[in-house]
Amino acid sequence: MKTNSPIRFYDTLSRRKRDLSLIESGRVGIYSCGPTVYRYAHIGNLRSYLMADWLRRLLEAQGYKVRHVKNITDVGHMRQDVLERGEDKVIAAALAEGKSPAQIADHYTQAFMVDERKLNILPAHEFPRATANVIEMVDLTRILVDKGFAYVVDGNVYFEVDKFAGYGRLSRQQSEGLEQGVRAEADPLKRDQRDFALWKAAESGRVLKWPSPWGEGFPGWHIECSAMAAKYLGPEIDVHTGGVDNVFPHHEDEIAQSEAALGHRHVRNWMHGQHLLVDGLKMAKSTGNTYQVSDLEQRGFEPLAFRYLCSTARYRSRLNFTLNSLRAAQQGLLRLRRALHEAGGRATKKGMAEGEKLRQAFWSVAIDDLNVPKALAVAWHVARSRLPGPIKRELLMDFDRLLGLDLLASPAVEAASHEVGELVRERHALRLNKSYVEADAIRERIQGRGYQVHDSHESTSVVPVPAWARAAPAISSSADVESLLGQPDAVEFTISIVARQGCAELERCLRSARQWASGVRAEIIVVDNGFQDSCVSFLDEVALRDDSLRVFHADHFLGAAAGRNVTLRQARGRYILLLDTSVELTGDAFAQLRTFLDDPATGIVGRWGALSDDLRSFEEARSSGDVDAVEGYLMAFRREILQDVGFLDEKYRFYRHLDLDLSLAARTRGFRVVMDTDLPVVRHEHIDWSQTPPEERDRLSKRNFYRFLRKWGARTDLLVARAR
Ligand SMILES: [Zn+2]
Repeated sequence: MKTNSPIRFYDTLSRRKRDLSLIESGRVGIYSCGPTVYRYAHIGNLRSYLMADWLRRLLEAQGYKVRHVKNITDVGHMRQDVLERGEDKVIAAALAEGKSPAQIADHYTQAFMVDERKLNILPAHEFPRATANVIEMVDLTRILVDKGFAYVVDGNVYFEVDKFAGYGRLSRQQSEGLEQGVRAEADPLKRDQRDFALWKAAESGRVLKWPSPWGEGFPGWHIECSAMAAKYLGPEIDVHTGGVDNVFPHHEDEIAQSEAALGHRHVRNWMHGQHLLVDGLKMAKSTGNTYQVSDLEQRGFEPLAFRYLCSTARYRSRLNFTLNSLRAAQQGLLRLRRALHEAGGRATKKGMAEGEKLRQAFWSVAIDDLNVPKALAVAWHVARSRLPGPIKRELLMDFDRLLGLDLLASPAVEAASHEVGELVRERHALRLNKSYVEADAIRERIQGRGYQVHDSHESTSVVPVPAWARAAPAISSSADVESLLGQPDAVEFTISIVARQGCAELERCLRSARQWASGVRAEIIVVDNGFQDSCVSFLDEVALRDDSLRVFHADHFLGAAAGRNVTLRQARGRYILLLDTSVELTGDAFAQLRTFLDDPATGIVGRWGALSDDLRSFEEARSSGDVDAVEGYLMAFRREILQDVGFLDEKYRFYRHLDLDLSLAARTRGFRVVMDTDLPVVRHEHIDWSQTPPEERDRLSKRNFYRFLRKWGARTDLLVARAR
């Protein structure tokens, strides 16, 4: 094995690819900004730890001695006021149960370790906790005050950005940009809004606080990393890693603090990993598009499928995550393992020489800016090659030191059930007798029980089809399904049910729809709009037993309007009934709806309606008759009106105002919009409302309200009260 090959990679500070610069040859200290432990890590966070893991594995494979430090942020972010406002439900619940902040931090730290282990991320040599290193943070802050880089106001200590000449070098943010970049509310205590806190005075009632020369308080986030990096890796460190969103302000501030205090360079090499995206948006808790490792496991994926997926993109490129891409990654990983498992033959001299060339090819792409995708391609080349099995396996074992994909794990072969075992034996006997037609019939029965059948010359093996492969392929947008709008009616009613959460609610709604639709020719289309629980398999099971029910799985939340449009595009009913899962049919609503909808003047009918004077505020209509809008809990219309009115406006990702938008679209086409209080339905708790945190739903509601106003605000002529 070669030792100490020069490693080239892209350095964020110098903005170029260059050889790794080390303090002492052959030894590398790596500092990685670690997790904030008052919530679970999502896979977007974990992607940046995968980058640091590949770097460490590469260095170790190349003979370097590595010391890896990853801090645990268990202070700073956990602001008392945030907790008290109840913004984080999990924390609020834990506090309500009487758990201490330390217990909460312990819980999430353990969960993080488990996630890392599942992804084969090697544990860092040290996981220093911020709360255990506050003395060092206070010391560093005092040095900065003594040297004149920081000032004290009312028990708070701020770093004065103007005093540090090199500020902005890492992120290349100019002062004006920096000032605009300060998004938080202006802090009147700061001399300059670019200044940042090194130490904050404890607000009253705060639990996590420490003594300091400036009174009781707690450290700022940036100073944590400066202090712990210096304590665990020395005054200068070789490599510092993090995600791109750490560049500013976190790492910019870290450089300023450390270099101002120490008087010399802080970090030799800066390495940053790009975001994981969902639909072009960064995966983030605030966007509401996160997945955890456990979410992937619940869907039957192996966590390493995510590691494989990340291996297919360069760490410096953004990677768009979909469950479809994860499914492909899972398949790829299993195929790669199977190819190695099945490779036969004996090692030969020629094979060994060929193998050495491939080994060199693998490591030479890996040391070139951590090109894991190319390295993975070499691994595939080996697996597909005609090399003898023992050589393939030896090479892949070597490559797996970097890839960490458990490539030599046996492809899962679980014991089949007794019944399936009997079928396999029966079929084997038939094949020996060359009764192939009968054998094929049994093969189908085995497959019907959820097993794949593999035949070889001597025997037959069966492998259960894993859950992730069994599920129908997921859709990523409404355009993934064909529009059947131009096709003739095939049934009388299409019942559309779309849900993203609340399995019990969905079951109740679906049960009532199936019960009361049994007397009419109806189809039911359900969209699992990014469900994250076991409801997915419940739906598939019901659909297996019921030919009139079709289920579409969205691989993420498509948005309220897009989810509905999947059903509208696929509908083949003369009438369409949109049901919210808060609604339960309690009688035959279909006959009544038919009567209304057979009147060509009527566009939309529903159980609940709204009236307005100005299109700005709406109030619930109290009696049956014409209304300005029918509410989205229950809406019915003839499918043909979609030819006029069009599908729903997919910019409405949240459901609010979407029903008003559709109603007004019908009104502009001259249709009546009608409410009937006699429809036999009841309404239960509306979980898309109750389960959305108040601030979130205010934000989303406002967004839809303005969208609605821009479109319809001037059309008061459409209002029925005005028309009367
Ligand atoms: Zn950090």
